[in-house]
Amino acid sequence: MLAQRIALLSGSGTAAAREAAKAAAAKGRRIIDLAAGEVITAPPVSVREGAITAINAGVNRYTESIGLPSLRKAVAKKLSTETGFAWDTDNIVITAGAKQGLLDATLALLNPGDEVIIVRPCWPTFPSQVLLAGAKPVFVDAKPPSYVPEVRGIRNAVTPKTTTIIINSPNNPTGAVYDRTTLQAIGDLAINYDLWILSDECYSGFVFNGDRHHSIIVAHPGIRSRTILVNAFSKELAITGWRLGYFAAPPEIVAAAKKLHSITTSNANVIAQHAILHHLEVGDGSYEREMHQRLAAARKAGLKILSKLEDVAPPRAEGSFFFYLDLTPLFAGLPRTSSTRTVDDVARILLEEAGVASVAGTTFGDETGLRLSFGAPPEELEPALEKVVATLNGLKSR
Ligand code: PLP
Repeated sequence: MLAQRIALLSGSGTAAAREAAKAAAAKGRRIIDLAAGEVITAPPVSVREGAITAINAGVNRYTESIGLPSLRKAVAKKLSTETGFAWDTDNIVITAGAKQGLLDATLALLNPGDEVIIVRPCWPTFPSQVLLAGAKPVFVDAKPPSYVPEVRGIRNAVTPKTTTIIINSPNNPTGAVYDRTTLQAIGDLAINYDLWILSDECYSGFVFNGDRHHSIIVAHPGIRSRTILVNAFSKELAITGWRLGYFAAPPEIVAAAKKLHSITTSNANVIAQHAILHHLEVGDGSYEREMHQRLAAARKAGLKILSKLEDVAPPRAEGSFFFYLDLTPLFAGLPRTSSTRTVDDVARILLEEAGVASVAGTTFGDETGLRLSFGAPPEELEPALEKVVATLNGLKSR
């Protein structure tokens, strides 16, 4: 008999979508994967060289549980450049991907019974980790077309038990990028109600609205002592499998992470740490710029195709690399007799009939959304989106 906490976990809906796609491909079907939460491309040469050099130098030992001091220093420097504030090595923890940083934060901050406000649609790991810590997720719905939450809604959700707000901008799955005013108002709330902010910024390299990424700390410097900024190299350097992320936080959270890592995973993979250190030392930003250009072009081409949707508004897709479609008007226009009733039905039809893997919004706590990644290889993305458009436009005549 398993412990009760396991039943609390949602599992990864995105992984389930990809497994369904793999199962269909194993039966000989050609499936284009728009379900993956990663950009399909090779990592930078500097990262690969850094790893190979470390291996050939015989690097093999444990590091400090929160990471190599040299890497923590390099990350502090990167963050100082990006935010315009000085960060110290003592503020930085190296993690096995953003996921571990988020778990460190929830385990360090939350007591059983605490309430945590999460903006929904949300990446499913947030509520699961909150539950794992014995706390209670309290959802605030962000509405289409912007999917930026109304701060009034967040304020109304605060109770005496609330300790933390989790935000994620640029957002997975909605592609929303929170404006500065919203970020400032969330910061004000945190101060007024004495709350922590857990800000997942792992899509910070992917903003397509003509602006650059604004960390909540930049929008509201007054919240620095109550904020944990989680980020990762996973998406930006296309190394999701290498498991390398980091967070920046006040020293008490760093000390908690040190304890947590030392009794759980120990350090993040030492070769990956050296690889990223090398990249931070010698990289000139060209890989990141090219990645951004590739995705901006994919987004533009994708939005052109999606503008042919008859009953669904094209998404804003201001950040991350997801098109998130609100299918509410599509469902409203379907005949009563239609067997297509849910977004899960739509995702299944796309997989079975169009050969396109997508992720239904139910994975993110949303009954009407559909997520399509534009991190797929460019030559696959456009034909896949054409099929999505043809299939969705055809639903009302079935
Ligand atoms: N946070 C968000 C919002 C994500 O979408 C993901 C991965 O999809 C992660 C965190 C996890 O990132 P990592 O692979 O670095 O653990």
